[in-house]
Amino acid sequence: MDFHQHTLTTIDFGTVSRYSYFPWMDTALANIQINVLEMEFNQATFQVIESYTNFQVMVIYKSPVTSLFCNCDQTGFCTHQKATLTKLFGQENWLSFLTSTVIEIY
Ligand SMILES: [Zn+2]
Repeated sequence: MDFHQHTLTTIDFGTVSRYSYFPWMDTALANIQINVLEMEFNQATFQVIESYTNFQVMVIYKSPVTSLFCNCDQTGFCTHQKATLTKLFGQENWLSFLTSTVIEIY
């Protein structure tokens, strides 16, 4: 399945915190299971499991644009992308990874 893309320009990962609020946040999506597959500086890949189906969501941040990808058959800003971002803002260690402006390898 192909990835579809949605871009947001409203997230500044340099200033957000887990107390930030965005209109796409949806706690009703909290039952969707999300695991981190890969996290790099300003880029992360997640496994999203909804109704026993696996999707892959990628978040790539290149200020000021956040690009979201998902391989489901929805278009636009899909529930998996929203669920991933909602969870991301609830997980301080995930968020700090994307928000850190200094790459600390060691
Ligand atoms: Zn999706």
